[in-house]
Amino acid sequence: MSEFDYDLFVIGAGSGGVRAARMAAGYGASVAVAEEYRVGGTCVIRGCVPKKLFVYASRFGSEFEDAAGFGWDIKDRAFDWKTLVANKDREIDRLNGIYIRNLNNSGVEIIDDRAVLTGPNSVRLQKEGREITAKYILVSTGATPFRPDIAGIEHSITSNEAVHLEALPEKIVIVGAGYIAVEFAGIFKGLGVEVSLLYRGPQILRGFDDDLRDGLAEEMRKRGIDVRVNTDVSAIGKASSGYRLTLANGDVLQTGLVMYATGRNPNTQELGLETAGVECGWNGHIVVDDYSKTSVDSIYAVGDVTDRMALTPVAIREGAAFAETLFNDNPVAVDYASVPTAVFSEPEIGTVGLTEAEAREKHPKLDIYKSSFRPMKHTLSGRDEKMIMKLLVDGQSDRVIGCHILGTDAGEMAQVLAIAIRMGATKADFDATMALHPSAAEELVTMREKWQPSEAEVAE
Ligand code: NDP
Repeated sequence: MSEFDYDLFVIGAGSGGVRAARMAAGYGASVAVAEEYRVGGTCVIRGCVPKKLFVYASRFGSEFEDAAGFGWDIKDRAFDWKTLVANKDREIDRLNGIYIRNLNNSGVEIIDDRAVLTGPNSVRLQKEGREITAKYILVSTGATPFRPDIAGIEHSITSNEAVHLEALPEKIVIVGAGYIAVEFAGIFKGLGVEVSLLYRGPQILRGFDDDLRDGLAEEMRKRGIDVRVNTDVSAIGKASSGYRLTLANGDVLQTGLVMYATGRNPNTQELGLETAGVECGWNGHIVVDDYSKTSVDSIYAVGDVTDRMALTPVAIREGAAFAETLFNDNPVAVDYASVPTAVFSEPEIGTVGLTEAEAREKHPKLDIYKSSFRPMKHTLSGRDEKMIMKLLVDGQSDRVIGCHILGTDAGEMAQVLAIAIRMGATKADFDATMALHPSAAEELVTMREKWQPSEAEVAE
């Protein structure tokens, strides 16, 4: 008989926690997972999945416009937000059911309660008040939207509410310019809302390759999104209808809705971490080692509650590595190199590997291949849109170390490119690969001319 109630107690049934719980149970551990809201976590319930469904919905608008050049005459277009939300909710319910079934089938006990750490091997269930012990505890509580503390911030919504809106506003102001802000700007614009995106810095999507940042900002503006950089909001007030934003430069904006997408904070508040002796970092995230172990030997953490990469597949990998390490006697550390990522903006971004700025720092001899072109589809649709592709190659080894794409299906391409880049593909391998014609992706294997900065750029 074990001295503990469970071998593993997981707090939070999101992507990372569920994967860890199921795998640990599969290796014979007795496992319970506590979830205070809905099994599935941010990705399924209020993040990636509903967002992507909204992205699909929003793209029909431009598809209908583009169809005219191909001979289609589409009259009487009408969009019903309530239908979309209801259908999306039905799909989320279905996925939530699958997650619950999978946990049950794996023999994991689901506890519908909030659990709080009371020591290195114990938690208390808040509703029930019951104390539970476990040999290991995994904290996978995710993150929650952060909003800066400005006057009237309570009038704003976050992505949590955006997926449940009763009705679409005529106008929306989105503050921030990370993944969520640019994705929702595209969603709302595609669904017919007038969108302003306000960003405090000089260019959207800090951290992404500069050519894609510039390219996306330009395309967003072409699609009619009012992208304002170097713009700070000082206050939000209620107006007779909607809201009034006062900007730091004194300008005033009237809008139907204000959405903040200014990052996310780890869910570590009132979790008993201090009581248990778990060390937290600068924004409250749980500090972990390469194997997701916290400062307490029996407590581990995976996913957005740590300060690694806030991406669903990464959390899943971390959960799997944790279960392998502790319950299959097979220490696994997650490899964070060449993680592909997409921004489901309009148009889309797909990227893997180093940005040009990062590559310049690490690789003294850097070869750059760039292509900017009008996708074939738009020769007939008439849409003024440019696709960008960029390969960064280490001039010494010829290895492709970064690939950045702006345009239709960029995310799909990035996933496949990540395999080649992980395997150490060289530019010569790309060149030797037969093109698939006609496609946009063939550009990736047909770029031959090294990009040279213009004299003006060199002078900068
Ligand atoms: P991000 O960290 O990507 O972006 C936050 C944005 O808010 C940045 O533009 C940031 O500016 C700005 N910001 C931060 N603080 C303030 C402030 N006080 N005032 C004004 N602006 C501010 O966060 P998101 O919320 O967009 O997304 C959270 C995470 O979720 C992402 O990092 C990503 O890992 C994940 N995610 C992934 C998706 C995907 O894979 N497609 C989709 C959605 C989310 P600055 O750059 O100047 O700091």
